[in-house]
Amino acid sequence: MDDNIGSCVCVKCGFSMPAPKGVSCGGMKCPKCGGAMKNGGAGFEPKM
Ligand SMILES: [Zn+2]
Repeated sequence: MDDNIGSCVCVKCGFSMPAPKGVSCGGMKCPKCGGAMKNGGAGFEPKM
Protein backbone atom coordinates (compact mmCIF):
# COMPACT_ATOMS: atom_id res chain seq x y z
CA MET A 1 0.00 0.00 0.00
CA ASP A 2 1.23 3.43 -0.90
CA ASP A 3 -0.35 6.17 1.15
CA ASN A 4 1.16 8.80 -1.06
CA ILE A 5 -1.07 7.94 -3.97
CA GLY A 6 -4.45 9.54 -4.35
CA SER A 7 -6.63 9.91 -7.36
CA CYS A 8 -8.00 12.57 -9.63
CA VAL A 9 -11.48 12.28 -11.09
CA CYS A 10 -12.88 14.09 -14.08
CA VAL A 11 -16.01 16.02 -13.16
CA LYS A 12 -17.17 15.81 -16.74
CA CYS A 13 -16.81 12.21 -17.88
CA GLY A 14 -15.89 10.49 -14.62
CA PHE A 15 -12.49 9.31 -15.82
CA SER A 16 -10.20 8.65 -12.86
CA MET A 17 -6.46 8.25 -12.65
CA PRO A 18 -3.91 7.85 -9.88
CA ALA A 19 -2.08 10.96 -8.79
CA PRO A 20 0.45 11.75 -6.07
CA LYS A 21 -1.09 13.23 -2.96
CA GLY A 22 -0.33 16.90 -2.53
CA VAL A 23 -0.92 17.48 -6.21
CA SER A 24 -3.91 19.67 -6.90
CA CYS A 25 -6.12 17.94 -9.40
CA GLY A 26 -7.85 21.25 -9.96
CA GLY A 27 -4.93 22.34 -12.09
CA MET A 28 -5.07 19.26 -14.27
CA LYS A 29 -7.12 18.47 -17.32
CA CYS A 30 -8.74 15.20 -18.18
CA PRO A 31 -6.68 13.38 -20.83
CA LYS A 32 -9.86 12.01 -22.33
CA CYS A 33 -12.21 14.95 -22.63
CA GLY A 34 -10.16 17.91 -21.44
CA GLY A 35 -12.55 18.57 -18.58
CA ALA A 36 -11.62 19.75 -15.12
CA MET A 37 -10.26 17.22 -12.64
CA LYS A 38 -10.92 17.07 -8.94
CA ASN A 39 -9.31 15.13 -6.13
CA GLY A 40 -10.94 11.77 -5.62
CA GLY A 41 -10.21 11.91 -1.92
CA ALA A 42 -9.14 9.23 0.52
CA GLY A 43 -10.82 5.90 0.14
CA PHE A 44 -11.93 6.64 -3.36
CA GLU A 45 -13.02 3.49 -5.16
CA PRO A 46 -13.93 3.35 -8.82
CA LYS A 47 -17.40 2.08 -9.44
CA MET A 48 -17.50 -1.15 -11.33
ZN1 LIG B 1 -13.07 13.68 -18.74
